[in-house]
Amino acid sequence: MWRSATGEHMTLRFAVPNKGRLSERSVQILKQAGFEIEDGSDRKLFAAVKDRDLAIMFLRAQDIVRFVHQGAVDLGITGKDLVSEAGLGVATLIELNFGYCRLSVAVPESSGISHIKEVKTGSIVATSFPNLTKKHFSEKGKRVEITRVSGAAEVTPQIGVAHLIVDLVSSGSTLKTNGLKEIDVIMESRAVLIGNKKSVRSKKAEIQEIVAAIKSVSDAEDKKYLMADIPVGSLEEIKKFLPGIAGPTIMKIMGRDDVVAIHVVVDKDKVYDSVNRLKKLGATGILIVPIDRMVP
Ligand code: AMP
Repeated sequence: MWRSATGEHMTLRFAVPNKGRLSERSVQILKQAGFEIEDGSDRKLFAAVKDRDLAIMFLRAQDIVRFVHQGAVDLGITGKDLVSEAGLGVATLIELNFGYCRLSVAVPESSGISHIKEVKTGSIVATSFPNLTKKHFSEKGKRVEITRVSGAAEVTPQIGVAHLIVDLVSSGSTLKTNGLKEIDVIMESRAVLIGNKKSVRSKKAEIQEIVAAIKSVSDAEDKKYLMADIPVGSLEEIKKFLPGIAGPTIMKIMGRDDVVAIHVVVDKDKVYDSVNRLKKLGATGILIVPIDRMVP
């Protein structure tokens, strides 16, 4: 391992979750950003990146915040919820477009409670987020007892260990299966790229390059590239609902004066409507393709 005179490690270290919900997409995003992870086989703790002074560490999502804070690794992908819970000073560099969930308060359906105001003083709350839970309930003026669990909080009311829970929810189906209902949201969460504050200053250029590459993947994720042949007469109308990045690219089609080809970047959630509107305006040969990266 390379170390500078001040004891800092020279190779940039980038931590990704080794298992769990954030793991697969984190590795994929690095690959899409152009980092070739060498021999990134399962169960590895560490992998080199081809042609770069960058090492990938596979760690638990919970530990990543602490290791980034300590400077044992320079960068890491983890959950925003875990960053807030840890309360440690790290730099949030990008909010990524995956790992969406929310930290919620849930009670048994049978409790009859539908608002946090109705939670009885002294109720026991099971959670793996004791700090955020404590803060939230005290902000709401509620005195509760917190029992810490490392997972599966949703079963605790059934086994008589807690009256209610604070846990991460995405679809809400796990809550439902366990006879629980959400009564309050503490925070919205998603995956984030975080950096050690000192590294962000001392290795600024290298880190900025990595951040830009990952951001280009993350930005592209919400977009699609749309191509279509359209009647010249519909062009003005089409421009109104297909603004693109800097306006659609319009190309002549050889031998045709009545039709042009357009290429445009569209928000993913607008693709469906855009295709329908294009078809109504006489567009043909519509192609929609994914974008790997968008570099401004
Ligand atoms: P895991 O390693 O699978 O326990 O989850 C780590 C992180 O995944 C959590 O801290 C959240 O940031 C994120 N996550 C996204 N959706 C969910 C969900 N529905 N339940 C739990 N974690 C989620």
